[in-house]
Amino acid sequence: MIATARWSPAPVSTDMRILILGGTQEGFDLAERLAEVDGVEIVSSLAGRTREPRTPKGAVRTGGFGGAEGLARYLREARITHLINATHPFAEEISANAVAAAEAAGIPLMRLLRSAWIAQRDDRWVGARNALEAAELCRREGGRIFLTLGSGELTAFAHVHNAHFVVRMVDAPEEVPLRDCRTIAARGPFSLQDELRLLAEHHIGLVVAKNSGGDATYAKIEAARRMRLPVIMIERPAIALDPRSPARATVADIVAWVMERRA
Ligand code: NAP
Repeated sequence: MIATARWSPAPVSTDMRILILGGTQEGFDLAERLAEVDGVEIVSSLAGRTREPRTPKGAVRTGGFGGAEGLARYLREARITHLINATHPFAEEISANAVAAAEAAGIPLMRLLRSAWIAQRDDRWVGARNALEAAELCRREGGRIFLTLGSGELTAFAHVHNAHFVVRMVDAPEEVPLRDCRTIAARGPFSLQDELRLLAEHHIGLVVAKNSGGDATYAKIEAARRMRLPVIMIERPAIALDPRSPARATVADIVAWVMERRA
């Protein structure tokens, strides 16, 4: 993918030059907040996966860096002083690259990582370590299944032939590797009413979700609870708990971290 840089090194008076690895609502909100802070220059980086991404205030670049080495090179060349990984909790590769690249470039790394959801009393969650394990559970269950996963994760479900899937994504791909499915293109946040309606309309018997955390997509979990539906909950990847990448849970916490360093 071609990277489109719209950012050049800042004037000498800038104290902090921060690269925000984004692609999430929090990454967007953080960029908007930090763009207003004196002495802080930011550039947000987007992977370039969504067709019409929302671009925050400040500079924005799009596309991969070319692995950890490419990211480290970018950090040096753009004279980045601080790296903030505000990508999705399931964005494994870029998060691992951020750890390696910050170390190579010798700059501090902070992760903005929203808290995981915790099962409530009436939730009927079944844990799965990854999409493959979730797919195997679906194969055993069959029926009408609501999948809220990214397009890259759908191939894990390709061998499940005894289910009708309803798949919701921000951009519905042209081809879906599932035998029997209906795709819905929609961007959150979704309300509880939206989710209750969707589950009822499609006669859903099982929900598959990643433990993304946050409010924007939590309504489906609440709706499943109300309708007493089981949820296959895919647990977060190990990188989300990597001690080399300290984390704070909210935009306000990260702004505080920046202010501490700016003082
Ligand atoms: P991933 O598997 O961790 O990353 C794959 C590759 O995409 C990375 O190695 C990197 O390419 C490039 N990349 C990812 N995020 C980037 C960013 N913010 N800026 C520049 N390059 C980036 O990532 P993913 O899970 O596919 O997620 C892609 C984007 O979608 C992320 O920005 C993430 O925040 C967002 N997102 C992901 C999910 C999810 O469930 N995974 C959900 C919502 C939003 P190079 O190696 O070439 O640098």
